[in-house]
Amino acid sequence: MEHQPPEQKPFAQRPVVILGAGIIGCAAARQLLRSGFSVVLVAEYLPGDQHVQYASAWAGAAWHAAGGITPDHRYIQAVSHRIMLRMAQDGPETGVSVVNAREYLEKEPAPDSAIWGKTVVSKFRQMNPGEYPAHFNSAWAYETLVTDPTIHMPYLRKEITSLGGCFVRQHVDSLQQLYDMFPESRVFLNASGWGSKNLTDVKDDNCFPERGQNVLLATDKCNTMYFRNGQEYTYVIPRPLSKGVVLGGVKQPGNVYVTPESLWNANLTSLCRSPEIDLSIAQDEIARAHRLAPEIVPEHPAADRISHIVGIRPSRKGGFRLDSERKGDRTVVSAYGFGGGGYAFSYGIADAVVKMVETAERENVIV
Ligand SMILES: Cc1cc2nc3c(=O)[nH]c(=O)nc-3n(C[C@H](O)[C@H](O)[C@H](O)COP(=O)(O)OP(=O)(O)OC[C@H]3O[C@@H](n4cnc5c(N)ncnc54)[C@H](O)[C@@H]3O)c2cc1C
Repeated sequence: MEHQPPEQKPFAQRPVVILGAGIIGCAAARQLLRSGFSVVLVAEYLPGDQHVQYASAWAGAAWHAAGGITPDHRYIQAVSHRIMLRMAQDGPETGVSVVNAREYLEKEPAPDSAIWGKTVVSKFRQMNPGEYPAHFNSAWAYETLVTDPTIHMPYLRKEITSLGGCFVRQHVDSLQQLYDMFPESRVFLNASGWGSKNLTDVKDDNCFPERGQNVLLATDKCNTMYFRNGQEYTYVIPRPLSKGVVLGGVKQPGNVYVTPESLWNANLTSLCRSPEIDLSIAQDEIARAHRLAPEIVPEHPAADRISHIVGIRPSRKGGFRLDSERKGDRTVVSAYGFGGGGYAFSYGIADAVVKMVETAERENVIV
């Protein structure tokens, strides 16, 4: 009998392997599965976990048009909005809600300001003087989207699993470790957040941790977002599905709270440590949020209405990385470094990732 070579698995049946199961890895997994690809996610922290280094558990998470970004990045945010609006319409189990927004501007908006967002959000209008505090230059009212990560991440886990995706809880030291675990796979997505700083074959020194700390105030007045646009970084982000509002914010570059079990490697020990909750930050956030939205945030909220959120944003000097590289017979897509905007970019990034994976598919199947 003639010798038969071992059967080659068709490209689409070889799983796309995703490193990272935060909002970026999970959103990409969902979109890839919906396009018919097979997907495996490998990550140390999975949806439902609440580790300080797992940023996706802690986000606000509001859709707010970012200022000072390129038209391509605006479009990514616009795609996210399109997909997440549909989720909001699908029902509360998705964790995404439509809320009112009031954005107060400290000064005249620059041409590359967040104003571009008026083409994406609903019911945008310039507010009239008298509708907002007189010391602001101007104000916008519109409808936007908020995502409750305590509902959305478990929802995504369920969605991914029911679409046939699977999760593997594992820490890896390198992408090579993944290649060895999945020798048949041809496409790998690195969605490891600031983990990319320490992967031995990535070592992206532009990645840095940026500590965030918010106050979560329990209240029924949770249908309007307030955002101060300018030098002062203050917001009140509603979580209508959890009956609360998130008060912020603060960014602390290079500051990470390190627990013994999270000492992935020696590099972390050189980073600044901080206690998990800094009460002076919390008090300052309450005071600023009270000034911005006194009808929602009392000057002295009762202690039993308050809890705290601390999370490490996966930031990157020069902005996030989104690209696809051919490495031998593998394609490696990178999508990390989303800092304080991972939710606002999430599903647009997922859409871009699907297109990159389809390009790799075409290169593999059209010979
Ligand atoms: C307080 C706070 C408020 C925020 N508010 C907003 C907001 O209003 N709007 C908004 O859009 N964004 C907001 N963000 C930002 C948002 O949370 C992040 O941008 C987003 O969660 C990043 O997602 P990610 O998937 O890239 O990273 P992460 O959620 O950090 O996930 C990284 C994944 O990679 C895995 N991983 C990393 N390295 C390894 C390794 N070596 N081996 C195995 N697994 C690994 C991790 O286990 C994890 O699963 C906020 C963040 C914070 C902290």
